[in-house]
Amino acid sequence: MKRTLAEIVLVLALAGAAAFGWLNMQSGKAASGQLIEAQVDAEVANEQLAATEKEVAEAEDALDALREEMEALKGKALELDAVKAALGNGPVLSDLEAAYKKDKVALGVDRQLGLGALRMLVKGSQDPAAVEAYTQALETASKAMQAVNLDSHKKAVCAAQIGLAAAGQKVEISAECGGQAAVAQAASGHAAPAAPAGHGAPAAGKAPAAAHAAPHWEYAGAMGPERWGTQFPTCGKGKEQSPLNIKGPFVKQRVSLAPDYKPGQLKILNNGHTIQVNVPSGSKLRLDGKPYELLQFHFHRPSEEQLDGKPMAMVVHFVHKSAEGKLAVLGVLLKEGNENPGIKALWAHAPAVETPEVEPADVMFNPANLLPREYDFFGYEGSLTTPPCTEGVSFFILKSTVNISKEQVMSFPFKMNARPVQPLNGRTIITG
Ligand SMILES: [Zn+2]
Repeated sequence: MKRTLAEIVLVLALAGAAAFGWLNMQSGKAASGQLIEAQVDAEVANEQLAATEKEVAEAEDALDALREEMEALKGKALELDAVKAALGNGPVLSDLEAAYKKDKVALGVDRQLGLGALRMLVKGSQDPAAVEAYTQALETASKAMQAVNLDSHKKAVCAAQIGLAAAGQKVEISAECGGQAAVAQAASGHAAPAAPAGHGAPAAGKAPAAAHAAPHWEYAGAMGPERWGTQFPTCGKGKEQSPLNIKGPFVKQRVSLAPDYKPGQLKILNNGHTIQVNVPSGSKLRLDGKPYELLQFHFHRPSEEQLDGKPMAMVVHFVHKSAEGKLAVLGVLLKEGNENPGIKALWAHAPAVETPEVEPADVMFNPANLLPREYDFFGYEGSLTTPPCTEGVSFFILKSTVNISKEQVMSFPFKMNARPVQPLNGRTIITG
């Protein structure tokens, strides 16, 4: 194909030159000079084409090599799947545990680590009990390794450390376990979950590059809310910060608020600060008819907003963005009561530990399942409630609450992830 193209270029160039020469001859000039030039041009073009062809061939070779590697990896993945399926289908793990118990086999370091690894393999690193058991086995094994310098455990301990780090656990990888590269990888994986964090980064989908460099913050301790301002100035100096203690006097103002949420593939993550659901495009909130796209929603325990000084069990914040980039948050307060079927569906897939977004196969979720029937609200201008606490965010907190059971509150992986209420600073709270 390329050869043919090269030939065509050559022929066209020659034909063009010949015609040019003929025209020149007609006007009495010698055409041979131009003809030679045209020939040279054609040859240069031909050479360039040949070079390109060589590059393409090289790229194709590289691609072939990559394909072979992929095939090999696919083989490995299939093997692993087969092992997992075999262990997961049969009662191998429980049989083994029962057999150990029955024969009163002492669960030495090796066996504990082995069982831990089996649990991780069968139940997956998302299962908190499996991770916990493995972590404990690892601690025992690490101690044994330090105490008597048992080289026989080294491989298992290293595998456990690296496995837990990959599962998003905070674990130090010993120097003798292959050291720095593994440590660095695990650390960066922890610091930069591949997903937007709470209010801080409302963009749906991929993490903004800034998340990598963002300083650490938390809800208690050395980088708790009182200290956020040292790293994120708006959190300390802002005059229109969220959340608020909602209390009168209120200003009556008619704003029509109409959520129009649609079912879509569930995409859920634990970003280390909250459980967040990233929403596929198509769900909207209309404010006086103006559409705001629903990007994500997430939870706080207890509710960040207070009503007359009292928080509710939890709150869900629906984060929306208009075409101009203006943010609007719809807050639905969750009150302790009956079990909430929508929350049940979510909690079944909510990662217990910090993890990038997961997309459970064929699980759909409609955010409308978390809304009450009535949309009367309290409204005010505020900010992101997580660093960098950016202002210019409109808040609408619904007056109607939605139930959540005590068990459901208890199984939320964060005991406390609410920023304290902020000064009103003369803002009006409207009621619609
Ligand atoms: Zn929030």
